[in-house]
Amino acid sequence: MDDYDVIVVGGGPGGSTVAGLTAAEGHRVLLLDKDRFPRYQIGESLLPATIHGICAMLGVRDEIERAGFVRKRGGTFKWGSGAEPWTFSFAASDRMAGPTSYAYQVERTRFDALLLDGARRLGAEIRQGHRALGTLRAGERIGGVRYLDDTGNERHATARFVVDASGHGSRLHHDVGGIREYSPHFRNLALFGYFEDGRRMPAPDAGNILCVSFPDGWFWYIPLSDTLTSVGAVVKQEAADRVQGDPDAAYAALIEDCPLVKDFLRDARRATEPPYDRLRVRKDYSYDRTVLWAPGMVLVGDAACFIDPVFSSGVHLATYSALLAARSINSTLAGFSDEKRCFAEFEARYRREFALFRDFLITFYRLDSGEDDYFRQARRLTGHHGTADEAFAELVGGVSSQDFSRAMFGDVLAEGVQLQLRGLLGEAAGDEPPMFPGGLVPTADGRRWRVPDA
Ligand code: FAD
Repeated sequence: MDDYDVIVVGGGPGGSTVAGLTAAEGHRVLLLDKDRFPRYQIGESLLPATIHGICAMLGVRDEIERAGFVRKRGGTFKWGSGAEPWTFSFAASDRMAGPTSYAYQVERTRFDALLLDGARRLGAEIRQGHRALGTLRAGERIGGVRYLDDTGNERHATARFVVDASGHGSRLHHDVGGIREYSPHFRNLALFGYFEDGRRMPAPDAGNILCVSFPDGWFWYIPLSDTLTSVGAVVKQEAADRVQGDPDAAYAALIEDCPLVKDFLRDARRATEPPYDRLRVRKDYSYDRTVLWAPGMVLVGDAACFIDPVFSSGVHLATYSALLAARSINSTLAGFSDEKRCFAEFEARYRREFALFRDFLITFYRLDSGEDDYFRQARRLTGHHGTADEAFAELVGGVSSQDFSRAMFGDVLAEGVQLQLRGLLGEAAGDEPPMFPGGLVPTADGRRWRVPDA
């Protein structure tokens, strides 16, 4: 039987991140994915913290920069009580101003493959077409994985840690105990497809995500290239019957109800090339878990939790939780501290970041508010001392946690960029206080935990 330090189930952004960052510490890491890459996934609008933080740590940032993805400076919303669309820019935040004030809109087929290749280069063994069936126990711990290999044979592998990064359809997440709890606030359903030759917003906002509310929900409109656009309707539970029956007719009727999106699509036609040639539906995607880890096993990304897509937080939460899990695994394997303390830090930081988005989204869905109210609410939730629009940009840019502003932006970027950031961040690039009383802080390279200086 094969034996590893870490087995990661799932090669999406969460799985590649944790596999890469544990392999980089010299551990023996196996990653299994049931599919062969490139494979389709939804979740195309990214946040700066993923590009300039995680992708830099994985050594793929330059490749991402060269891949020709559409640059996203922020978001444009026709939302709330105001009749006019309003735009926020990541550059409104000092932490992201300058070289890190953008993210990308990505085709996930290409983006996920780049991250998986990055994990392989860092030393992870990647096996595609291998489907995990369940976990193995080793006494009180989870100690390995049962899986079907690419010839259909069942095999077993053991490890000190199993990471479930297998997404919303995970079959393993129950093994840490506890339950998945579906959000009472976000019981929406999404119906989405792709268009060629949709309109673009004027520069400099042409690459922004556009989110437009309409009576039964809201639309996303995400430019994926000069010509390709991802267009999705998020429909309230009360209106879910609108998506019964013929999906093409339902999609066309929903677009008809949203004048701004209809106008942007006036000269557009549905995409015909796979994987963009068909409509897809997702529901029951907003949930949390009462338990996120158990001895020998940890959940990251959608296997653990996800919350409504309006702020494009899915890939950020997946990669951020994977970073936190990697630190905890690396620290435990290096004998730094007890597993419980390391994973308590993982859980506290992960839950904090998830709750920021969740609580903010609950306010955001109250359509009677206006832009200024949303910005003020972001400041209240993050405890930000700057202006309200800075607080909003930092929250929805994924950098309101100290992790991204200090340990990551301060240490993991290429030297030239790092120097500019040190100029911007000043003290922030140095030592940082713990996020919680008695808590741990990241090491300078961001890959492990350490006890803060007294
Ligand atoms: P995934 O990307 O789902 O990867 C999981 C991997 O595990 C897959 O490759 C799968 O093949 C593999 N796998 C599954 N089961 C097994 C098994 N048994 N054995 C081996 N491998 C297995 N996020 C954003 O950031 N921006 C957005 O704009 C956005 N829009 C969204 C819109 C909708 C409607 C929805 C529902 C989600 C959206 N998301 C968005 C969220 C985003 O899709 C996810 O949060 C993100 O893909 C999670 O990454 P992950 O690595 O956890 O899982």
